[in-house]
Amino acid sequence: MNRIIVQKFGGTSVADTDKIKNVAKIVIREKENGNDVVVVVSAMGHTTDYLVKMAKDLTTTPSEREMDMLLSTGEGVSIALLAMAIQSQGYDAISYNAIQAGIYTENIHSKARITDIKTDKIKSQLAQGKIVVVAGFQGMTEDYEITTLGRGGSDTSAVALAAALNATRCDIYTDVEGVYTTDPRIVPKASRLEEISYDEMLELAHAGANVLHPRSVETAKHSNVQMRVRSSFNLNNLGTLITGVEKMEIYKPVTGVAADLSQARIVVCNVPDRPGVAAKIFSCLADKKISVDMIIQSYARKISNTNDIAFTVNGCDLDKTLETLDELKTELNSDEVEVDTDIAKVSIVGAGMIDRPGIASKMFETFAKQGINIKMISTSEIKISCLVNKEDAKRAVQALHDVFELNSDVVADVKGTLPDV
Ligand code: ASP
Ligand code: MG
Repeated sequence: MNRIIVQKFGGTSVADTDKIKNVAKIVIREKENGNDVVVVVSAMGHTTDYLVKMAKDLTTTPSEREMDMLLSTGEGVSIALLAMAIQSQGYDAISYNAIQAGIYTENIHSKARITDIKTDKIKSQLAQGKIVVVAGFQGMTEDYEITTLGRGGSDTSAVALAAALNATRCDIYTDVEGVYTTDPRIVPKASRLEEISYDEMLELAHAGANVLHPRSVETAKHSNVQMRVRSSFNLNNLGTLITGVEKMEIYKPVTGVAADLSQARIVVCNVPDRPGVAAKIFSCLADKKISVDMIIQSYARKISNTNDIAFTVNGCDLDKTLETLDELKTELNSDEVEVDTDIAKVSIVGAGMIDRPGIASKMFETFAKQGINIKMISTSEIKISCLVNKEDAKRAVQALHDVFELNSDVVADVKGTLPDV
């Protein structure tokens, strides 16, 4: 049996027909190496944003089902065009949407998780020598309802397919040359990492490094899929390998710095200090599929016997979160909810910070020197995150990158499609 390689191409790699021709060449090259190839593609260029905009022109509250129907069309265009481009080079290819590819998800719209992939159809096409081009980002429920995996979800489609097909590798082709120590548009001397562990990549992706959909890394870690992030515009560069193999000793405490500008902070003030309050708030949010990032509960005030619970959510869930808290108002007996959208989460990540004292203090000192105020702090074993004002995010990232000695000697080559900071 041939080895199976899954290749994923993001929106910028298939932004126009010339770029699709270039992708066809990369796919064919892999096929010519004697491998079976499954290709996952995103929608062309900014198609998904454009589709979202059209929906918003019609209604501020589009139905989530219809949103998924709409957004899934973007990938439908790219699979067919890529299959044609491959065929026109004399190779056999077939395009599959999520239904044909057997990608099952939970019954949730706009951020469904993949539950199963029935690979028989793909395998039988591969056995006939065909290159199979699969639509990323979309899935189906048991009921044949179309779902989507959340913005940027094609990475996760690709890794999940690689896991289900027991593929040798999952190569994520994008417009940057790999994973960098930070966004090279903020720090031009950011260094490309040759290798990074799943855990560090997971933390960086959650911390706002836009290079990969966080769930793709989670899936890769769970199924031990070797992932490589590389540029579709420079094939001489192998990019970054994401792997479970940790280096024996890590000499640098920090591997990467990231900023996430999409969060909003909510403080539920003066809630009673008794069992069940946090459980109530967060279970109601969970019921609405709102995921919460940082959570801090203040020290209980003795006189009033109350405390404040602060947490962050993604900005796109803010309205739903506030509605939920409003419904709980009487039950929680809370007199005030504060919202702050002028925040950025700035994080340092590194497996090398385990058991190494002084990393947090170095981060805080760096902020102090820059006059940057910290609004909230949270830590994990290999990450420290601080909330700061949005306008301070760029300076914070630059200063941390410098202090933790992550600069390289060369200026990174950036095509610049990551969201602006
Ligand atoms: N087209 C979708 C998006 O723009 C999915 C993806 O590109 O991964 O979010
Ligand atoms: Mg992407």
